[in-house]
Amino acid sequence: NISHIHLWTVIPSFCHRPLEAPFRYLFGPGPSNVPPRVLAAGGRPIIGHMHSEMFGIMNDIKKGIQYAFQTSNNMTLAMSGSGHTAMECALFNIVEPGESVLVAINGIWGERVAEIAERMGAKVHTLVKTPGGHFTNAEIEQALAKHKPVLFFLTHGESSAGLVHPVDGIGDICHKYNCLLLVDSVASLGAAPLLMDQQNIDILYTGSQKALNAPPGTAPISFSERACHKMFNRKTKPVSYLLDMTNLSNYWGNDGKPERIYHHTGPVSGFFALRESLAILAETGLENSWKHHTEVAEYFWKGLEDLGLKLFIKDKDLRLPSVTTIAIPEGYNWKELLAYIMKHHRIEFTGGLGPSVGMLLRIGLMGYNCNKANAAMALAALEDALKQCRMSKA
Ligand code: PMP
Repeated sequence: NISHIHLWTVIPSFCHRPLEAPFRYLFGPGPSNVPPRVLAAGGRPIIGHMHSEMFGIMNDIKKGIQYAFQTSNNMTLAMSGSGHTAMECALFNIVEPGESVLVAINGIWGERVAEIAERMGAKVHTLVKTPGGHFTNAEIEQALAKHKPVLFFLTHGESSAGLVHPVDGIGDICHKYNCLLLVDSVASLGAAPLLMDQQNIDILYTGSQKALNAPPGTAPISFSERACHKMFNRKTKPVSYLLDMTNLSNYWGNDGKPERIYHHTGPVSGFFALRESLAILAETGLENSWKHHTEVAEYFWKGLEDLGLKLFIKDKDLRLPSVTTIAIPEGYNWKELLAYIMKHHRIEFTGGLGPSVGMLLRIGLMGYNCNKANAAMALAALEDALKQCRMSKA
């Protein structure tokens, strides 16, 4: 009889107000604005996560990821979760406690991976540069020979520094030392060339909310045959049940078994949206998408230099086209600049992240947001802020 039950917490007042989510120009390092076609896909009626139509959509997503990654890997799927989920999935499944991993740290993402690997009991070795630095193949080979890791981690698009890291040759070097190559392409996929199979990458992951322009919350990932051999011949079970690839490969129909068994309830709307965003990328074509990001980035970089601003990554070939970093101009407080631009222009730019905090500003023009009109709008907002926010010398 519920008439005797007394509730101890009051009805929260927000329930009397409609949801408010303002429009913002998301020109930070992600999430990026989502095009109407993708938003509409996410708003379709929910179907069951185990319905045959859903499996059909998951198969389409798999094909879309294979195209976006340029891979024929069967073990290709989308994680139910953000980029970090894919990061943890890769580490938890590939590495067993006590095994060595080598992590290239030149911004926050290497730091994160080193921490995750340490938490799961791996022996972590690091190669470290200040944000924006990059590693030569010779430096990587030396460290592989020294530490003999089972896995080497590299960030392709270092969004905390604005660097796109060269990948050519690294997969071959890793394989020479019996090591797998794990690459993070969360901030670079679709914006800068990356070819999983040709570049011999063993595990590649990305996020939905950057150049793919889907809402945050799903993360494509793919494993090579070599990676599958390692992760499916483990002595111990991965620490996470949710991220166990034995279960996930069945959920995605990748294990060759006739039946898919319930593992977890995937983010149905998120998968709808991801499917559509992968369709847009395929329709555009990878080469066109890379070319377009480079052209818009070059236009934007020239505009920044014309404003007297200094690009953080000096070498043009190492600049990430999707996320541009600029040195904080002298005589300005970076937090004030960002707040002014948000208040007066409804535009989000961000500051640094992790080791790059206080060093730089980050401006992302990705996928749907990547065009010269948006670049011009970002430049006009910066020009205005530079006029209005100069600190007094007093
Ligand atoms: N790697 C890189 C390069 C990123 O830019 C990000 C997100 N900013 C991540 C990983 C983590 O992704 P998420 O926030 O979706 O977990």
